[in-house]
Amino acid sequence: MPKVEISENLNRVRKRITTSCAACARDPQSVTLLAVSKSRPAQDLRTAFAWGQQHFGENYVQEAVEKQAQLTDLDICWHFIGPLQANKTRVVAEQFHWLHSLERLKIAQRLSTQRKHSMPPLNMCLQVNIDNEPSKSGVNADNLITLAKAVAALPNLRLRGLMALPAPQQNATAQSQPFLRLAQLLTQLRTQLPQHPWDTLSMGMSADMELAIACGATTVRIGTDIFGPRQAQHDLLRS
Ligand SMILES: *Cc1c(COP(=O)(O)O)cnc(C)c1O
Repeated sequence: MPKVEISENLNRVRKRITTSCAACARDPQSVTLLAVSKSRPAQDLRTAFAWGQQHFGENYVQEAVEKQAQLTDLDICWHFIGPLQANKTRVVAEQFHWLHSLERLKIAQRLSTQRKHSMPPLNMCLQVNIDNEPSKSGVNADNLITLAKAVAALPNLRLRGLMALPAPQQNATAQSQPFLRLAQLLTQLRTQLPQHPWDTLSMGMSADMELAIACGATTVRIGTDIFGPRQAQHDLLRS
């Protein structure tokens, strides 16, 4: 396998963010680049960090804990972006700054209880099943406000926004629809629960980052285009 040039890849992704922001008259500072580091060794995160990358997204609790133990000397902002089981919430409550994939009240209740009072509140995005597919993760749009209100009542958590992983579509127009719907839902939440910041739209990955930014993304989650292709076997083993 050729050595992946993480620094060059990061530069290229940053340039894409700047270009997409210019195209829709947005401030490039309004988009946070989240480097999705699942299946990558701690050394790759260290390399990216040395190149100015501070936000990292992990999908699997055990894997994340192992890497965190090797990177305690770095001031990394850790985001948990994968499905979270109830018996694994403690690690996220104690060792992460963000959770993007909240879809059930029970998980929020556990996180709220387990978050130490000495820590700042855990930043939360609610994951929306924006395509309304029965098999997919996330809360359905119809149940979003109810979940948001219940989570809003819990201490030690800070509701920041929404996350979605829309299915790939044939063309840009179709691909924009779920992003625009997610942006609309965020606007609704702002009026219904104005005491929370609601400043985060976590959407867009390597393949659809530009469209997501055009539709208002404030956090893009990029794995492949920073670290290179993942080994398919890893994803299969972990799924
Ligand atoms: C893997 C993953 C990404 C990154 O996907 P790429 O296509 O590799 O950029 C983003 N978000 C989530 C939730 C992921 O699991």
